[in-house]
Amino acid sequence: MKTSSPNRLVRPIVRKLRAYIPGEQPRIKGLIKLNTNENPHPPSPRVLAAIKAATDGRLRLYPNPTAQPLREALARFHRCNADNIIVGNGSDDLLALATRAFVEPSGARHLKSVSRRLESGQSPLDSKCAVQFFEPSYSLYSVLASIHGANLREVRLKEDFDFPDLDVLQKHRAWDSRAALTFVTTPNAPSGRGYSKRQLEAICHRQSGVVVLDEAYVDFAAENAMDLAMRFPNVLVSRTFSKAYSLCFLRVGYFVGNPVLIRAMDKIRDSYNVNGLGQVAALATLEDLDYYRKNFHAIIATRERLADALERLEFKVCPSQTNFLLARPCLGTAEQWLEKLRASKVLVRWFNASKMRDYLRITVGSDAEIDALILAVKRIRKTWI
Ligand SMILES: *Cc1c(COP(=O)(O)O)cnc(C)c1O
Repeated sequence: MKTSSPNRLVRPIVRKLRAYIPGEQPRIKGLIKLNTNENPHPPSPRVLAAIKAATDGRLRLYPNPTAQPLREALARFHRCNADNIIVGNGSDDLLALATRAFVEPSGARHLKSVSRRLESGQSPLDSKCAVQFFEPSYSLYSVLASIHGANLREVRLKEDFDFPDLDVLQKHRAWDSRAALTFVTTPNAPSGRGYSKRQLEAICHRQSGVVVLDEAYVDFAAENAMDLAMRFPNVLVSRTFSKAYSLCFLRVGYFVGNPVLIRAMDKIRDSYNVNGLGQVAALATLEDLDYYRKNFHAIIATRERLADALERLEFKVCPSQTNFLLARPCLGTAEQWLEKLRASKVLVRWFNASKMRDYLRITVGSDAEIDALILAVKRIRKTWI
């Protein structure tokens, strides 16, 4: 090798990239894990049985390349057609595919067709390369946009994590209604705030580019916006089996939307992007929805109980429509709480980012886990007062 450093073999865009930081998956025994929004309930017994029954010599075979039976079951569930649905290796897979299918890398400036368009003054190049999203929201979006060489457009949410006034922002060119791709986490993560369908519809209506409504937590919310995916040709709704359906391990997510957009993503996905056991498990999940609906209600009840308890312990708790709470301690810093809770064997999430630095994000675990958390909080408080 003639080059001095293997670093020089890596594309500059990748060298500079700040990779997504997943929540910690610790190996320590007895740790109460409330940091990655996993569901405290196991998958239903019927789902576990289906996975076990599929675990035999057939593992040597490739899975269904289009997840056809699962897409058909999802189509029945959402009252649409199978060609309205694409399944991914988790919804993360599909968020990446959407970026690649709908956004022009800004490096494409050099391509002839694009420069010709520039000269003739057609639609601003910037919008074609723009990935727009709110801050704070799911931190993967900026990573996906950076990997792709797209232009990032981060738009700040209000203090209470509501949407800002987009008319005003657009006047100041701080919002792009022609952005190739706009991601909206709804309900929002990491704040937990829910948005009304009316608010979401206004955004979908405003945009001429693709809008992805990332409904990863919607089963814990009062409202969902699925019908916007049916009504707007530029809207895709993202769902996942990870959080509400206790299947993080098997990586299954899906998008619902216009067949033209779905087909575009389908063209560029890996041929076998959804593993076989994941397909089996997701199908069995759709046949046992009552089990999961009970879990949603239990988690929502525990969430409200935890919110009350934390408020009585002088935390400021943001209203949540998800399976986690964002809470700001009045005593000490959030980072100190993270460390002290960890010393008490409770793991929560803290984001070292400007708007989030004052908060802890706490997953709603089982009742026993939440009792242990509340007890730990009470003990830690005593060391301060
Ligand atoms: C967890 C999460 C996802 C990813 O889910 P997977 O299906 O497990 O890839 C997507 N969006 C948001 C907002 C999430 O919190």
